[in-house]
Amino acid sequence: MAFPRARVVLPLIQFAVTGVVMWALMVWLGGRQHLLYVWPIGAIQIAFLLPWWSDPVSRYRQVAAAAAGQLSSLLLLSVPIWIALSFSVAGAAELFVMGYLLSPGIQSFDRLKHRSQVLRFATAAVVVPAIALIPVAFPVAAFTHVTVRIAWLTVMPSDALGYAVVFPALFFLLTGEYRSPSKLLPHLLRAAPSILLFVAASIAIFFQDTNPFLFLIFPPLILLIFALGLEGAVFALPIVTVVACLATAQGRGPIWLKSGTDIHHSTLVLQIFLCAVSAVALAVGALLDERRRVGRAAEEAQSIYRTLIANAEDMIILSTLDGRRRYVSPAVRKLTGFTEEEFLALRHLETVHPADRDLARTVIASLAAGKLDHTFRYRIPCKDGSWRWVEGFVRGFYEPNSQTVSGYVATVRDISSLKETEENWMAERAVLAQENQHLAHIANRDELTGIANRRAFKLVLQHETARQTRSEKPIALLMIDVDWFKKYNDRYGHPAGDECLQLIAQAIASTAGRASDHVARLGGEEFAALLPGTDANGARLVARNMIDAIAGLNIEHEDSPFRRVTVSIGISLWPLRYTSETAYLIQQADRALYECKSRGRNTIVLWEEELAVSSAEEDTYWEI
Ligand code: GH3
Ligand code: MG
Ligand code: MG
Repeated sequence: MAFPRARVVLPLIQFAVTGVVMWALMVWLGGRQHLLYVWPIGAIQIAFLLPWWSDPVSRYRQVAAAAAGQLSSLLLLSVPIWIALSFSVAGAAELFVMGYLLSPGIQSFDRLKHRSQVLRFATAAVVVPAIALIPVAFPVAAFTHVTVRIAWLTVMPSDALGYAVVFPALFFLLTGEYRSPSKLLPHLLRAAPSILLFVAASIAIFFQDTNPFLFLIFPPLILLIFALGLEGAVFALPIVTVVACLATAQGRGPIWLKSGTDIHHSTLVLQIFLCAVSAVALAVGALLDERRRVGRAAEEAQSIYRTLIANAEDMIILSTLDGRRRYVSPAVRKLTGFTEEEFLALRHLETVHPADRDLARTVIASLAAGKLDHTFRYRIPCKDGSWRWVEGFVRGFYEPNSQTVSGYVATVRDISSLKETEENWMAERAVLAQENQHLAHIANRDELTGIANRRAFKLVLQHETARQTRSEKPIALLMIDVDWFKKYNDRYGHPAGDECLQLIAQAIASTAGRASDHVARLGGEEFAALLPGTDANGARLVARNMIDAIAGLNIEHEDSPFRRVTVSIGISLWPLRYTSETAYLIQQADRALYECKSRGRNTIVLWEEELAVSSAEEDTYWEI
């Protein structure tokens, strides 16, 4: 916080500078009040005050110090006290009002570089002295023996000119970008030729008494100085002011040519001239600076966009809806091998693979219809004749002040490697699906006979019984067991046994031939058939056909009382009377099968209540 310094040192500076400048001016003027062209005291005071205005302590102390400095030096010069007092009070009031008016916008020289701030400053510089100096005009008139009007007409423009000429220059030195000498010096050296030329031209104009039209060289001179912006103007103004005042004070220069010998008139003319120069210089200076700022900002923005676009991996295309592409970013080179020009020379749909063109047309139609965002994948041509998979993010835009979509920006991204991965993945998935199918087949098939195995049968049983609960149709379960098979194996060998099992499986499968029937080998020489929609009579019929079919195979079996391979079949029926557990269905069929065996085999038994009673001791729970 630098406030303590500002609160002590700055009021002291205000006091000293105001006092010394006041004293010097009064001494120099002596009795020559007609030479009061520019009154710089208010401008000096406000230049010191403005940057610290926000600190109330510093602010009031500076205003008081300025008034005290003014008063002391006037009293030192033996000015009557009431005149000195009125000067000081009016000066302090003016300083305060100027500070109040300027402080919101202008805290540093940079802020002055805006047109609006220059306008505010110029208005304050004219209006405030015009009002503040009305009371001062009375003592001045009394002091200098002129009319109050003349006094006011002298001090008011002097004060206003003081602001216009001195304030910007001093403010520039105190708060500007070049306020440190190490920065200011190179800047001054760069500007030196223009400034010297300006000094020389000003001297040439004002220290000659013959040609009033020499003023005409001012416009080009001002242009020259304006190349430096507002900073040029703040240098030029004091120069032209000093030169013009010196010349006019010596009775020389074009001012006298116009105003004859009336000294008040010539002063006024000079002041009006300087006012005009100041107004133009400050306004145009600020304008140029503003232009420069805008230009620099635009350049900066453009350079940012250029850098972004040039370094973006994605290709950016700007196109009208009718297909005139206005821009393609440099990424097109890496993506396609085409240069920007070559790519833009392609016809619109040539930039899309023939197979993807319908999709592209649909997107464009949808854009035209007002749906602004689309993402789609397509193939883009490469210079080597190949096609590359890309993903395009397309966004439609409206032309300013228009209700229709006029074009789109497409951001196009290379997805060829992604696509390749995706394709590999799809292929792998297809292989896996096939393998899965095969595995499922293997998992559900009996290897020896090719019909369903126990696992598959279990699922089918669950499924069909659950379904039956809804359809109310009976289901028959047939448990089929080959008779005397151990003996068959023993006599004919295991391979012959296998072959026999295969034949039996085929016979069973072709007998239970309805589409809804399921047959399976549960293991060993045991088979099962599940016949949905089949009642007891139907089941007996199918079982009989099976026994006949297997007997019809006529497989020799020396050790069987029937001399050929036979089967026994136990039947149970779903729904069960007391339970909905499928395990009981199997148990019942199994018990019926057991009954077949005890009745001599090669027969059929349908489960009934009494079977349960008779074989209760041998009750084995058949876990499928
Ligand atoms: P029962 O008339 O009482 O059914 O007598 P069984 O000999 O058929 O009954 P058991 O269950 O004692 O014998 C079944 C035999 O089936 C035992 C085994 O030698 C034979 N077997 C089981 N699985 C296979 C197979 O996969 N291939 C062959 N060849 N024989 C099998
Ligand atoms: Mg058996
Ligand atoms: Mg058997």
